[in-house]
Amino acid sequence: MPVDSISRDILRWYEKNARALPWRHPPGCTQAPDPYRVWLAEIMLQQTTVAAAGPYWLRFLGRWPTVQALAKADDADVMREWAGLGYYARARNLLAAARAISAAGAFPSTEADLRQLPGIGAYTAAAIAAIAFGEPATVIDANIERVVSRLFAIATPLPAAKAPISAALAPHVPRDRPGDFAQALMDLGATTCTPRNPRCLACPLSPHCAAHANGNPDAYPVKAAKRLRPKKQGLAWWIEHGDDIALIRRPPRGLLGGMPALPGTGWATDQPFHMPFEAEWRILPEPVSHGFTHFELRLSVACTTIAHRMAEIAGNPVSWISRKDIPAIGFPTLYARAAKAVLDQSHEQVIL
Ligand code: SF4
Repeated sequence: MPVDSISRDILRWYEKNARALPWRHPPGCTQAPDPYRVWLAEIMLQQTTVAAAGPYWLRFLGRWPTVQALAKADDADVMREWAGLGYYARARNLLAAARAISAAGAFPSTEADLRQLPGIGAYTAAAIAAIAFGEPATVIDANIERVVSRLFAIATPLPAAKAPISAALAPHVPRDRPGDFAQALMDLGATTCTPRNPRCLACPLSPHCAAHANGNPDAYPVKAAKRLRPKKQGLAWWIEHGDDIALIRRPPRGLLGGMPALPGTGWATDQPFHMPFEAEWRILPEPVSHGFTHFELRLSVACTTIAHRMAEIAGNPVSWISRKDIPAIGFPTLYARAAKAVLDQSHEQVIL
């Protein structure tokens, strides 16, 4: 089989320029990495940067060093460790998949079998299959999508471009080093073929690159016109009794499922504000803003103090937590910001 010059050139570059990441083996390493470590990293890296995911990955590994250990973990502990990474469905799927793998007795080793696990989509299955099991899968993340769309000047707008991008890349995946090849392209996209001002003069693929030859790499990938995210609003209730604050746990399914939260109204584009009971309420002057994948939320916060503890608020069972314990409860970012806004108003120094 003739040597593929694209894979040859990118692999040579990778040998000198690979990023050192805690979940990776160095280029050319003959020992396959532990699929559990690769999988954990890939799930964390969905929607999260390498810099942000790194400390979480190390903490998870320290606490649950094997997939069997993770399978036995308490759900609330895992959600607490995940707090701050966002997109909490990933953590719930992670646990469900760990339990399925542990029950099956072995990590699935093919792209097709990996796809059967909760939370593992096309990209993640291909990445684990290539990196941990040496399967010549075609791995395409956002970085690789950009590199390949430029390399072959693919004019179809995303997301329809995914199929031609995959078809263009597949013949170049080397059978002997598919994991290194995928990681090399990821690194090239992260460090050289960047979204703006790609460094074509330093790029090992410039002799093969159609966009470079045409002088218009910035034109790729072609994106479909953006749709604006709808805006929603809601109201959280900060209810104090002595030194304690009322908390609820969100329903297990849906946004921020299973996470600790402040009680409050629903979230909707025209959500009317209302209070759960009569009291003296004070609304913070500025709502907390938070972007979810499909909408922007502005969460106002109404505060009050009550004389008698309640067991439930607006039909939700509540627990009471001391203010000093707030940093340890694993609030998702939205509620951590809301709590910080309240505590900043009262000039309390609680590090969140
Ligand atoms: S030559 Fe430029 S546009 Fe082409 S792959 Fe390299 S960095 Fe990207």
